[in-house]
Amino acid sequence: ALVTRFGPSPTGFVHIGGIYVATIDQDLAQRSGGRYLVRIEDTDQSREVAGALEQFGRAFTYFGLASDEDIDKGGDYGPYQQSARERIYLTYVRELLRQDRAYLDFATKDELAEITKRQQAQKLPPGYYGRWSLWRDAGPDDVQAKLDAGTPYVVRFRAPEVSNARTRFTDAIRGEIEAEANRNDVVILKSSEQSPRLPTYHFAHAVDDHLMRVNLVIRGDEWISSVPVHQQLFDALGFSPVTYAHIAPLMKQEGGSKRKLSKRKDPEAGVDFYIEAGYPAKAVLYYLRGLANARLAELPLEQALAEPIQLSNCGVAGALVDLVKLDDISADHIASLSGSEIIDAMTEWAAQFDPEVREVLDAEPDLALRALAVERDGVENPRKDLRKWSEFRAAYGFFFPQLHEAVTGVDDPRITDLGVEATVVRALAQDFVEHYQHLDDGQEWFGQIRELAAKHGFARNAKEYKKNPDAYPGSIREASQIIRIAITGSTKSPDLHAITRALGQEETLRRIAPLTA
Ligand code: GLU
Repeated sequence: ALVTRFGPSPTGFVHIGGIYVATIDQDLAQRSGGRYLVRIEDTDQSREVAGALEQFGRAFTYFGLASDEDIDKGGDYGPYQQSARERIYLTYVRELLRQDRAYLDFATKDELAEITKRQQAQKLPPGYYGRWSLWRDAGPDDVQAKLDAGTPYVVRFRAPEVSNARTRFTDAIRGEIEAEANRNDVVILKSSEQSPRLPTYHFAHAVDDHLMRVNLVIRGDEWISSVPVHQQLFDALGFSPVTYAHIAPLMKQEGGSKRKLSKRKDPEAGVDFYIEAGYPAKAVLYYLRGLANARLAELPLEQALAEPIQLSNCGVAGALVDLVKLDDISADHIASLSGSEIIDAMTEWAAQFDPEVREVLDAEPDLALRALAVERDGVENPRKDLRKWSEFRAAYGFFFPQLHEAVTGVDDPRITDLGVEATVVRALAQDFVEHYQHLDDGQEWFGQIRELAAKHGFARNAKEYKKNPDAYPGSIREASQIIRIAITGSTKSPDLHAITRALGQEETLRRIAPLTA
């Protein structure tokens, strides 16, 4: 069984890449009958933002990424928040100090800068730091004197002497990797001036992953270059090594090249983008799974969600996030839902992001169902005009009197844009209101509109009108647009007859009425 963990840092920004990795963590662990845990990695308190944990909670709930053990749920291996594990880290730091595998470093900023300068001048990799440290081999009296004087220090790992310049390890995605062996005395415990005294990522993850019984570490590939030092740390601590799987980052196409999705530049890098727009979680998860394993993108959604993700099928090059593709997937998914499923999901979304939509859905659930049915029921190819919940307002809002932008009169700019004389518009509307028949049959219904238009002098078609524009107030097209605009608020809409059926006779007439004044 696999024990995986996701280690978010509460920096106030939840990256979609985090959801991507967490999905893989959850999938692998749960399918193997193992555990998937979430550990809050908050050792860098300067980067911390208030409310970040709640933000994580919301994102994880939205995407259904509930873990088996975490800060809220607890578990046998907590606390699941690094800032609460100070004593545990200190115990292991002390153990390394006792074995001389670590040392106290009192170097000042200037001394550190001096070493960096020297290393750069000699064009040496940073690993030479330790060799030049004044404190690596300092005697106990000197150390004690500094401690007595209250001089701040960090604790550094004493990188072992390596006989080979290169080292090898296996990555569950990339296979065998050869890398430069570590020579760097990395900091394992941050400055003694801080409280709580927190370890660096390198040290914390080693201790936590060991104690939490993690056996598969799935993380971003920016950590690949740290594996050699992580291996040395595991070894020094006497821990058996874990398996690593380094996931390539999500990418964005920019012109002819690809680059990492950027928190600063790309709104779609943040989970809030997906949640606020109202992409159904399933659509996003399906899309992400397809990015992880291309094979899953070939399967229909439900099947792809049920099939396992395989690390060996994960790409080494970063997968491209393509929002057009996601929109398509999401539209297909929404088209596969029933009206009431859509309304349930949308109601939940709207409660948070569009209270007005929430109100109309609550107040008129039947109208909402009828509105959705216009484009979906009994239609061979339902229009996929909903790709996310935020699009409901624009696509279906006009059905609800509260969201409909009624025409103000014959001088409403949407009407005057059609170029039909006001007196003709008024007469047409008057006639409509007086003689309208709320017919079931679409053909007949449109027949009455055609008759009405002819009666008021409109040309039967655009061609006829174009041939002799002075002879007509417009063509049948303009005449029906007058009615369409009054009923739907815009020049584009689904089938007008179907809309009137959903609205009912009274509401249909009420919408035409302002044009008669
Ligand atoms: N807290 C680390 C980060 O935010 C997680 C890396 C890991 O999963 O080990 O990058």
